[in-house]
Amino acid sequence: MDDVLEFARRYLAEEYEIGRAAWLIADEKEYRARLKQYESMYAKPGGLGLGRPTTQTEEQRKAGAERLKLSKDEPGILFQVKEYEHPKLGQIYRIYTSGHIHPRHKATMYLSGHIVQRTKDGLKIVARYQFCDTCHATGVFEGKKCPDCEGQGWIYRGGEKVGDPGKLVAVRKVQAPTDEASLEEYNRDEKSKKPSKK
Ligand SMILES: [Zn+2]
Repeated sequence: MDDVLEFARRYLAEEYEIGRAAWLIADEKEYRARLKQYESMYAKPGGLGLGRPTTQTEEQRKAGAERLKLSKDEPGILFQVKEYEHPKLGQIYRIYTSGHIHPRHKATMYLSGHIVQRTKDGLKIVARYQFCDTCHATGVFEGKKCPDCEGQGWIYRGGEKVGDPGKLVAVRKVQAPTDEASLEEYNRDEKSKKPSKK
């Protein structure tokens, strides 16, 4: 699973850089090449909603670059990776990552739980999911199906509809989040979970 951890770290670095590139790279060709590099981490990059507006003026870009210089944002954190055996997709991985970290924010928390798969072109993100803060990825809220994630535990943002990830095969913990909701998931023993009634 080492290569998946490596991939997840690269994703965090690329994700951080592409946001900055929109302001820092003046040359459109160079920027597009950078964007392509980032998008190559996805099996189907369509629908990512990336790319700077073509109407952005050089003045606006420079002002953005100035703001960035003052920003203390750092790349997101990799918390853990889980491997599953999915009934249809086979071997899949969920990578648990935070958003960009600002030193002012004390808590570190889950933001995304994208699904990664081995393809003929190497590891790729095949589905984008966001941590459900309402049910803490249990799919249950106040004894009922969580309304925010439709009982999935994760909010679908694009790509393959993975649904239930299947049988948990392995967990590789890297760093514990400090936010309570995220930590609850991090410490949960999924293998001891009762089988769902679905
Ligand atoms: Zn939920």
